[in-house]
Amino acid sequence: MPQRKIPINDLVNFIVKVRYHACQEGDEKRHVLFIRTMANRMFQNYIGYTYRGEHRIKARGEQPFADSVARRKSYEARWKETAPAEGCVKVKFLGHAGFQVVGSRVLFFDPFITGNRWCTTDLGAVRGADVVLVTHDHPHHVGDSFEICRRTGGTLVGITGLAEGEKGRGVRFQAMNLGGKIDLDGVVIHMVQSVHVGKTLPAAGYVVELDGCVLYHAGDTALFEGLGQIGTDFEVDVACLPIGDRFGMGPREAARAVELIKPRFVVPMHYGTRPEIEQDPDEFRQLVAEHSEVRVLHPGESLVLNARKVHRP
Ligand SMILES: [Zn+2]
Ligand SMILES: [Zn+2]
Repeated sequence: MPQRKIPINDLVNFIVKVRYHACQEGDEKRHVLFIRTMANRMFQNYIGYTYRGEHRIKARGEQPFADSVARRKSYEARWKETAPAEGCVKVKFLGHAGFQVVGSRVLFFDPFITGNRWCTTDLGAVRGADVVLVTHDHPHHVGDSFEICRRTGGTLVGITGLAEGEKGRGVRFQAMNLGGKIDLDGVVIHMVQSVHVGKTLPAAGYVVELDGCVLYHAGDTALFEGLGQIGTDFEVDVACLPIGDRFGMGPREAARAVELIKPRFVVPMHYGTRPEIEQDPDEFRQLVAEHSEVRVLHPGESLVLNARKVHRP
């Protein structure tokens, strides 16, 4: 059931990376995991199914792929059915820590689009943005935020000092600081603590209330006790948590964070975009178990929430 040929450049890239990883010494499991994740993405993006491991191919032949596609399609259909035709909030993953949230307003979190090879969204296709939120000043988080705001007239939200100087020219900027809250035309934004070292400025996380739904974007935070306060103060519908390890929480820490925050859904992020943060989201899913529902989104995929109330048009 091929849908799209794999571009030759991607294929060559893939082979070069596999050869590189196959020759590396050290933790073999990590190299195998990385190769498997790269292969998964190739299959997912171009052919339409996910490679689930050598042992299954050997044991069950080609048929399981067709089964898994059918299962996946019915799952997605059910998932869409639960969302109302209107009045829903759609959370779309852009890869890395980037999300587009569409409800009665359009928001972006850390939109790293240009140069993000896993992002399936094209910057030219971004037509509207009301608010663009940046967690911290590392390049893969600031991403295209300034450009999106310049093009769409959207408001940039970030820590005090983020839009200083030339780069902030022509951008409407709302500065915030940790512990603060603002209401931007019906979107309530709380800037919360993130235990992470930014490039030159402190890092932050956000709790955003849109159409009655509560979204938490953790940025690159480490695990810390204060996450329990977010779980106490808010009924979080969806928490976007880093699981890549090394620069922030790994799967184990993120699973502990889920226990503290108690969100309805968790979307893992900040993994897989470079070898140092390669992780298997299924391992994270197993660690979270019954505490919350983990939705692993491939770049371009969305989670749809029922809006609890829709703001004025
Ligand atoms: Zn960072
Ligand atoms: Zn980061």
